[in-house]
Amino acid sequence: MLDMFAQTRLQWEALCLELGLPLIHAKTIYRALFKEGHTDLATLASLPKILQEKLRDSFAGNGATIAKESLSRYDGTVKFLIRLGDGSLVESVLMPEKQRITLCISRQVGCAQACTFCYTGRMGLKRQMTAGEIVSQVWLARQWIREHPEWLEARSYPSFASVSNIVFMGMGEPLDNVIEVSRALHILSDPWGFHLALRKISVSTAGHRDGLVAILEEFPDLSLALSLHATTERERSQLMPINRRWPIGELLDFLRAHYERTGTDRSLLVQYTVIRGVNDSERQARELVELLRGLPVKLNLIPLNEVEPSRFQSPEPGSLEAFRDLLYEAGIRVMVRYSKGQDIDAACGQLVIKTKAEESESISVV
Ligand code: SAH
Repeated sequence: MLDMFAQTRLQWEALCLELGLPLIHAKTIYRALFKEGHTDLATLASLPKILQEKLRDSFAGNGATIAKESLSRYDGTVKFLIRLGDGSLVESVLMPEKQRITLCISRQVGCAQACTFCYTGRMGLKRQMTAGEIVSQVWLARQWIREHPEWLEARSYPSFASVSNIVFMGMGEPLDNVIEVSRALHILSDPWGFHLALRKISVSTAGHRDGLVAILEEFPDLSLALSLHATTERERSQLMPINRRWPIGELLDFLRAHYERTGTDRSLLVQYTVIRGVNDSERQARELVELLRGLPVKLNLIPLNEVEPSRFQSPEPGSLEAFRDLLYEAGIRVMVRYSKGQDIDAACGQLVIKTKAEESESISVV
């Protein structure tokens, strides 16, 4: 069986051609599946019988379902625990914001990058997710919103509102899975499907140069986020092993060239997790200003979420402020961002699937 969530519209069109049918049926399928939320495509009355049969015999879902949802009492964030077809678990996070509804999605079960302060990184990589599984997270979140009009109402959204922005900031390094991610981007942005503009989709990377080259070639308009977290090669390599493979100096040069060449008005979102005594000094703030020179940067400072047990701590409020002020005075667009959904473990770096043993272990730590 083929995964119906993983097919690009071109593939449905190819199927129509193969069956000698007009291409318009591909749009009907896309609209039914993604705009209207039907999964029983074989019963669509407007499709010819031969196509209905093909759909019944050869296509199915991928089995992803919402296994559990948790609603944050503070900010209305909803964390979904998603069970994939093979029983693997991942998470996506729905975040209500003023003008938009953002869904943070996963693309790997676990992560191979092993950034020292990130809880997901401790899981290691269990497996890559498929394009269909990536797309299904958006489908499931939209369906959930449809079934929970009170969630929209409580936040004064119109009743037709749905996921408007996607960030690839859940579990995993998206550019370690670039083929499936790029396929998912084609599907998510298709005007006959979810129709999410590429500039409303942000792919966050720990600094995977080869992946960036590949994805930008295909989607020059994509919004990018870079997890920086340190200002010298040595310090960054200590926090983020990926820096040994693609040193940050070269990576930023590559990005400078990209923004110059394309002349895009897109900004580069730089994420800097602030860790007490590790990367929050005045010296490091000054180095950060130099490092980011010549890039269209929006800088988010994210105070570290402490995940136990960990040797890393959140910054002192005073040093965080001083750090931000120095950057602000140097002309950088900077914001301190507190992670959403802290009461439901939905915050950055907290996405991790606990096994039973680990759960009881973490209870005994508390
Ligand atoms: N692998 C991609 C996508 C992960 S996005 C990337 O590195 O960009 C998740 C973001 O949360 C990353 O910026 C990550 O570095 C950050 N993060 C990880 N652990 C954190 C923690 N404990 N506190 C705050 N931010 C954290």
